[in-house]
Amino acid sequence: LELPIAAAVRRPVRVSFEFFPPKTDKMEEALWEAVRRLEPLAPDFVSVTYGAGGGTRDRTHEIVSRIARDTALRPAAHLTCAGHSRGEIDDIARRYWDEGIRHIVALRGDSPDRGTYVPHPQGYAYAVDLVEGLKRIADFEISVAAYPETHPDAPSAAFDIDNLKRKLDAGATRAISQYFFDPALFLAFRDRCAAAGITAPILPGILPVTNFAQVKRFSDACGTSVPGWMADLFEGLDDDPETRRLVAATVAAQQCRILSANGIEDFHFYTLNRADLVYAICHILGVRPKSA
Ligand code: FAD
Repeated sequence: LELPIAAAVRRPVRVSFEFFPPKTDKMEEALWEAVRRLEPLAPDFVSVTYGAGGGTRDRTHEIVSRIARDTALRPAAHLTCAGHSRGEIDDIARRYWDEGIRHIVALRGDSPDRGTYVPHPQGYAYAVDLVEGLKRIADFEISVAAYPETHPDAPSAAFDIDNLKRKLDAGATRAISQYFFDPALFLAFRDRCAAAGITAPILPGILPVTNFAQVKRFSDACGTSVPGWMADLFEGLDDDPETRRLVAATVAAQQCRILSANGIEDFHFYTLNRADLVYAICHILGVRPKSA
């Protein structure tokens, strides 16, 4: 891997930010604070997740609508097949289109109990079916998910890449990756996708980790490996959130600089509804407020 010290500022990068629907008023305040802080960085788009099984359907919609109405940002609404009939999904999509929301992140979703996924009997079974359904409704801009370390349900890595290609061939224009920690894994995945004929951008999903214990638990379920060096970096910091945050920013910034030095130009940040670390990492990548 190439990492000249000035690499990150060698080429301009584009960024996008992901938020989730908050559960409480206090969390809602934090969300809008983060949105306002990151807005001047003029991201390509910002996306809002959709709770497993549609649990946040209305809140996702409200936040996406408010971003479109009250900010200069371009929102993208996540939408999942899980737990919905095709008719329900189509109604949600039409409402977005009628409101002028043009970008959907189309996903399969998981079963709410995280057990074996079973498609809704009248639903879209997989993300590729949702992409096709959305394109039948209107000419949405569609992003889909990609898995540098292979989706846990996939019979093989090759099958999973073929699944990604089918989603793009069905009308998606970019993929956003599951978070990962080893940049070499992402770059190898990018190369395998290119070899499979995928030409659409694949945005690395960057998760600045502040709560290491939580991320370690969560990573097992989504198939992300947590390298030993990360465990070493966070060792002894369980009761020291301030140092954890500095370490988190350092790790994520370094990850981004390695990716940038190796040709990656688009970065998607899992903000967890907090702006400060992401703002600093964007700054390191050469992203500056629009007015500056
Ligand atoms: P798919 O692309 O449908 O793939 C799912 C699995 O099925 C893969 O293993 C694939 O190889 C396999 N597969 C595909 N077609 C077939 C077939 N015909 N037969 C057998 N196997 C098949 N979840 C949420 O609930 N809400 C969100 O907002 C959300 N946002 C996300 C954003 C990103 C960027 C990412 C990476 C994930 C997100 N997720 C979200 C999680 C996602 O819903 C899960 O990872 C889910 O398990 C897979 O979704 P997918 O769209 O990748 O599915």
